[in-house]
Amino acid sequence: MVSTAPKIWTRETGLVEKRDVFAAMRRGFRGRCPRCGEGKLFRAFLKTADNCSKCGLDFTPHRADDLPAYLVIVIVGHIVVPSILWIETNYTTPVWISFAAYLPFTFVASLALLQPVKGAVVGLQWALRMHGFDENPPDGIPPV
Ligand SMILES: [Zn+2]
Repeated sequence: MVSTAPKIWTRETGLVEKRDVFAAMRRGFRGRCPRCGEGKLFRAFLKTADNCSKCGLDFTPHRADDLPAYLVIVIVGHIVVPSILWIETNYTTPVWISFAAYLPFTFVASLALLQPVKGAVVGLQWALRMHGFDENPPDGIPPV
């Protein structure tokens, strides 16, 4: 007999598989699968693979969207802006040297951080069972 009682989401409902948020984010930051830490998370610079080559975890439910780019702007901005302010208040540098140093550093730092930050965001979403990463979603929630 099938129970007709509505399925109520509780904290225990989501505790089927323990998922460590920081371990998953660390694995994602290194470009590895958030679950096993071995399979590659990316098949191109910012394209995630369809699934993990080691454990088979489906990566397609992630919805990182613009969050990695936003976080990279926040991180790089908090490094570059105080550095420029400190340098410009303490030293007199020619404008061309300023542009030749600050712009490439900002560009390279942003590119270097974009993939690791996206991996960490995917790891966070997997660990928190966001979007399609929940194998037991509550009833009445349409698929993303
Ligand atoms: Zn895996």
